[in-house]
Amino acid sequence: MLGLLSILIIALELFGVTSAFTVAEVCQQLQKKFSAQILTPGSSNYTDEVDAYWSLAAWLEPPCVFTPANTQELADGVKILVKTNTTFAVRSGGHAPVTGLASTNHGVLIAMTHFTEKKIVGMPNALGAPYFRNGAANRWGEVYEYLEPHGLAVVGGRIWPVGSALLLGGGISYFSQQKGWASNNVVNYELVTASGSILQVNAKSYPDLFWALKGSSNNFGIVTRYDLKTHKQGKIFGFDRAWAPTSMSKFSEAMTSWMAPGGGHEDKKGALMPSTQYTPASDRLDPSLVAVYDAPVENPAAFKNFTDIANFTDLGTGVQNLTSLVRQTIGYQARVFRWKWYVTSIKFSNETMPIVIDTMVDVAKELIPQFNGFVGTAEEPITADHLAAARANGGDPMDLDPANGGVFFALYYAAYTDPADDDKAENYLQTLISRVESTTKAKGLYYPYYFFNNLGIKQEPFKFYGGGKSLPKLKIISKKYDPLGVFQKLVPGFKLGTGALDGA
Ligand SMILES: Cc1cc2nc3c(=O)[nH]c(=O)nc-3n(C[C@H](O)[C@H](O)[C@H](O)COP(=O)(O)OP(=O)(O)OC[C@H]3O[C@@H](n4cnc5c(N)ncnc54)[C@H](O)[C@@H]3O)c2cc1C
Repeated sequence: MLGLLSILIIALELFGVTSAFTVAEVCQQLQKKFSAQILTPGSSNYTDEVDAYWSLAAWLEPPCVFTPANTQELADGVKILVKTNTTFAVRSGGHAPVTGLASTNHGVLIAMTHFTEKKIVGMPNALGAPYFRNGAANRWGEVYEYLEPHGLAVVGGRIWPVGSALLLGGGISYFSQQKGWASNNVVNYELVTASGSILQVNAKSYPDLFWALKGSSNNFGIVTRYDLKTHKQGKIFGFDRAWAPTSMSKFSEAMTSWMAPGGGHEDKKGALMPSTQYTPASDRLDPSLVAVYDAPVENPAAFKNFTDIANFTDLGTGVQNLTSLVRQTIGYQARVFRWKWYVTSIKFSNETMPIVIDTMVDVAKELIPQFNGFVGTAEEPITADHLAAARANGGDPMDLDPANGGVFFALYYAAYTDPADDDKAENYLQTLISRVESTTKAKGLYYPYYFFNNLGIKQEPFKFYGGGKSLPKLKIISKKYDPLGVFQKLVPGFKLGTGALDGA
């Protein structure tokens, strides 16, 4: 228990009085208590941890890295960090590309590396459904690989090495048309709060916090384990296909007709993960698509628009195990480029794809014609069925209304290697988002929402959650479980106030 004096010191520090300790001194305190779990510059373990990010732009140099061996160690460490008013960033899979979101140069990095639990829990159990105990360090490919011999799967990420924090931003899954956001399928979180308490957060124990965690990232604590509903999983049909640039217009038309009534999206077993890369220097568009159909059906009608397009290369079409399909994404351009991305949303319509692609090309030609890298978009179609399933499956703070129809998340990215291009890429992406939004506003296609898992550093997601109704509730929940605002002031990320708290 913290004494009254300690609480007073913490309160003063959080409200502006600076810490009595340097980060180096705090690292020493942590080292005294946790010895081998504290890594410092010069050791190879330290380098492995600070470089364990998908985007090179996310590689920072914290004075030390804390790699707790278990939940109690994490809780004890958080108490020290809070008591000394020390900034601390949290990283699980390291796939968020935003610089300073899951690392820091001037605080302690908590790396969740040792939280690797994988365990199936059958019935009967206190949570009332069979579930999978998923340690925060696990990657989605490893999870599917573990579950497959048991004939099971969970609603998780689509790319092998992505980490569990996908669940804290909602999470788009191959099963979302049937089961909503990945986070709608969490039945319990193990959470370390700002006071260093360890909570089992579920619909019965802490219903408000349980709801908040389904889309509000690191604003409430550190999740050590996600208990995920399992479902029976047989073979799927899938492909991972890239078409020649000459097929771009056919690809765009196929996307448009898939979104239209009767065009394929009504079949809830189908899921698309499309992407279009644009290389400004060669004025080249490269469309590609990973498609998954959740049944052992060769070439299902739902994908006919796409399977009819010729001139492609394919990493493996057919009826297959989920892991075979997901394994194709195992090395997905990790640790090669600096990445930046931004996202916006557009209503489903015949004009959506042309707006998404043409605006990207126009702005790139105008601002970065000789860019030493490439840009692109992941055109994520989110159907009304997906949104209805999210509500039916317990709801979440995002609370997008299926009555408004399908929504298209346009994730725009830039990939390059020279840090000198950071500003160019940032300016391109911000200009592109504002250009797309002025077009969609003019055409009545604007959809006020930023998908959490694809946010750019200047974007504010929470004001759109629940049409504006969720943010006041989230703030009340934050005050209840974190009265000193530790996760608002000391932990970088997208915060409930305005914008991102930068850890860099
Ligand atoms: C190649 C690629 C493919 C992707 N595919 C998908 C997809 O299919 N569906 C989808 O929805 N998104 C997808 N994303 C986006 C992805 O969900 C986010 O980048 C997500 O943050 C990744 O989780 P992570 O564990 O790797 O995050 P990290 O980079 O480790 O962390 C991201 C944020 O979460 C916080 N955080 C991390 N761990 C914890 C914790 N244990 N407790 C509390 N806060 C924590 C961090 O502090 C940080 O703010 C993809 C991203 C990439 C790069």
